[in-house]
Amino acid sequence: MDQIRYYSTAGKAPLVSFREALFQGQPPDGGLYMPERIPRLSRKELWALRGKAYSEVAFEVLRRFLQADIPEETLWRITREAYDFPVPVEKVVDRRYLLRLDCGPTASFKDFAARFLARAMHYLGVQRQERRIILVATSGDTGSAIANAFHGLEGLRVVVLYPKKEVSLRQAKQMNTLGGNVVAVAAEAKFDQLQVMAMKAFEDPDLSCLKLTSANSINWGRLLPQVGYHVYGYLCVAEDPQDRTIDSVASGNFGNVTADFLAMRMGKPVEKILVATNENDEFPAFLETGLYRPVRPSKACLSNAMNVGNPSNMRRIFDLYGGRVDREGNIHQMPDMKALRRDAAAISISDHLTKLTIKEAYEAHGVVLEPHGAVAWAALKRYLWEKEKNSLALATETAHPAKFPEVLKELGIRVEPPACLAGLEQKPSQEINLSADYQELKELLLSLA
Ligand SMILES: *Cc1c(COP(=O)(O)O)cnc(C)c1O
Repeated sequence: MDQIRYYSTAGKAPLVSFREALFQGQPPDGGLYMPERIPRLSRKELWALRGKAYSEVAFEVLRRFLQADIPEETLWRITREAYDFPVPVEKVVDRRYLLRLDCGPTASFKDFAARFLARAMHYLGVQRQERRIILVATSGDTGSAIANAFHGLEGLRVVVLYPKKEVSLRQAKQMNTLGGNVVAVAAEAKFDQLQVMAMKAFEDPDLSCLKLTSANSINWGRLLPQVGYHVYGYLCVAEDPQDRTIDSVASGNFGNVTADFLAMRMGKPVEKILVATNENDEFPAFLETGLYRPVRPSKACLSNAMNVGNPSNMRRIFDLYGGRVDREGNIHQMPDMKALRRDAAAISISDHLTKLTIKEAYEAHGVVLEPHGAVAWAALKRYLWEKEKNSLALATETAHPAKFPEVLKELGIRVEPPACLAGLEQKPSQEINLSADYQELKELLLSLA
């Protein structure tokens, strides 16, 4: 039972344990943590999981990485508690399916990562009787998933910091009606300013007593729990152990798609991974030309959670293919392009096509998509255009369509909000107001000690 340790993609930081990777979030050298080995699931082991509940599949994936870090019974409890919601795989047409990742408590796929992260931090923290404050600056989906996932966990407090004017009323209510150990802070600032303020807090020696912890998307503890649903999706659609899928993954900061590359390395049979982006097309351009230019500033597209012009997790994809790129997007070592192009294709979808796709999927198949899932679906259609019609294919739907009523209404589609979003507007808000002044944030954090 060898413990898997984690190295930095930048290559200049010491190896750490899962626990250290989890609480540090990021190595000190500007890289990202990666496991020194990727455990395998044999075809036989994989096939034996067919027909099992999502929580069981997730457990089998997590267990192979974490068996030396979290006792099996505990990991099983954590996984069962985290994944108590459905993960539907919907047939759209022929052998093409939609993997709906939008049925968690905040109706976005971020729940998969946040709910595991919260419980893993809780378990590994309580063991040592540590009290921590989780600080997140958010522009929407991440904050609500994190706040919801940590809500009620003893020994942990969450401070979610959001730009008052940049989040919708519903998004704000998803964060500020929880109360208890969740402190919702609405700031008169832009999201970028909040990120800077949060960064300052993490580095402030006066606050080290608070054990401020980040829960951002580059934490290995958020990436790992996303591998499970890629394996599960395969098991739901494969008819034969030899079947391979074409996976289209709605991509912004590339956590979701990196998890699929990891699933493939574990042994999931994949024909192609499609990295589906909106008009922020830096990666599709790179795969085509070998030249990487971040899109700066990033373009504001309909699929707003994917408006990323220099995806953080690209560092991990490069690493998986023997390359190295830094945080700013400078390439130090090219990845094995031949292998990368064999395994993956990248397709950028315009806002115009995103809308057409929502309309077409509804009219032709009665399927309701929202902008992020529509990007994945459109990329799949484009890729399959010249391929064999009967390919087995799976696209991810990452948010519930009811989160985008304006876009859908414009296209003449009505959706009922899921139970978790219904009635939120009526709940009382408990938000704290803040200016864009760091000192104010600091005092607030100290008052929570
Ligand atoms: C965060 C998010 C994405 C992008 O996922 P990455 O892992 O950053 O690529 C896509 N869709 C929705 C709805 C999201 O919230």
